[in-house]
Amino acid sequence: MPRVAVIPESNSPVEIREVAEPQLEADSALLEVELSEVCGTDVYLQQGRLQGVPYPLVPGHVSVGRLSKIRGQMFDIEGRAFHEGDRVTFLDVHHTCNACWYCLVAKVSTRCPQRKVYGITYGLNDGLCGGWADQLYLKPNTRVVRLDADSETFMTGGCALPTSLHAVERGDIAIGDTVLVLGSGPVGINAVILALMRGALRVLCIGAPDYRLEAARELGASDVLNFVAHDEQERLDWLWESTNGRGADVTIEATGVPEAVVAAMRFTRDGGRVVIVGQYTDHGAVSIFNPHLDLNKKHLDVRGCWGSDFSHFYRGVQIISDPVRAHSWLTLRKNLTRYPLVKANQALADVANAKVLKALIDPNDMAVPRS
Ligand SMILES: [Zn+2]
Ligand SMILES: [Zn+2]
Repeated sequence: MPRVAVIPESNSPVEIREVAEPQLEADSALLEVELSEVCGTDVYLQQGRLQGVPYPLVPGHVSVGRLSKIRGQMFDIEGRAFHEGDRVTFLDVHHTCNACWYCLVAKVSTRCPQRKVYGITYGLNDGLCGGWADQLYLKPNTRVVRLDADSETFMTGGCALPTSLHAVERGDIAIGDTVLVLGSGPVGINAVILALMRGALRVLCIGAPDYRLEAARELGASDVLNFVAHDEQERLDWLWESTNGRGADVTIEATGVPEAVVAAMRFTRDGGRVVIVGQYTDHGAVSIFNPHLDLNKKHLDVRGCWGSDFSHFYRGVQIISDPVRAHSWLTLRKNLTRYPLVKANQALADVANAKVLKALIDPNDMAVPRS
């Protein structure tokens, strides 16, 4: 019987359950999970900070594994059939309708009201729909992608890869730009890699703790600053010195702290671009925002960045499967920490406290809890 790690309700610890093997619908499959991930979203899910979550919930919205059983036929976007044994990953977003105003007119499927997300808005009652499990049910019409990279390298990017790919795209980074990344969690770190890949001349990063900033530097950030050790004025001084007193051409906010949104605007040069990707959950309002000084007079282009769609996910998989481009993520692999299913609570705590950069759930590690 499949084993899953479940958040029974908000603010409750994760527990292990055994559940019935799913009945496969036509053109669906069962995935033998090799690795899934623990990200900031999972911490918020456990704390009940996201709206519309159908508990009990099996978290793990980005996962990789092998197709263990296929009923009917499944094809990739090139029209090639999937076979049992193939290593795949899949877009966590399912069921965007391609029939509503957002899908068809605005062309932002990330805002489609029908949108469901594995491990976030599909609960256990919807089936085996989360990656913290040894098996996962791939419903019909799930966007499955063949994976040439090995599981661990792919999961080094994990959900942060399509998210930050979307963010650098929204930032319209030009060759030679100076990019400032606020935040050094997985999204910030991936944004450093992808901003350089997009042609940034220099990437600066303000974050914490130090081990994450060292990772940013190793991946090519030209300078980093620990925000805990420097107050707002010191951060501004540091940035002015690095940008001839102008500020960054593009700033990507990936912090989760509301005040950082205003800081991102102040750190950006007049006429520059600001991408807000770090406010996935509601952490409240900010009172320090000055519409004249922070936005209008600066002639800023401020862009929100919500979720990602298949194009970001697909291109992320291609980039990380390319032997040359994968180099940065291979460098990052030493920052992975694996946890067995039974240590999911520990993984959540370590992510919440920034003790690890990237936490992965390995359902094949059968460690038993210490009594
Ligand atoms: Zn995530
Ligand atoms: Zn729609």
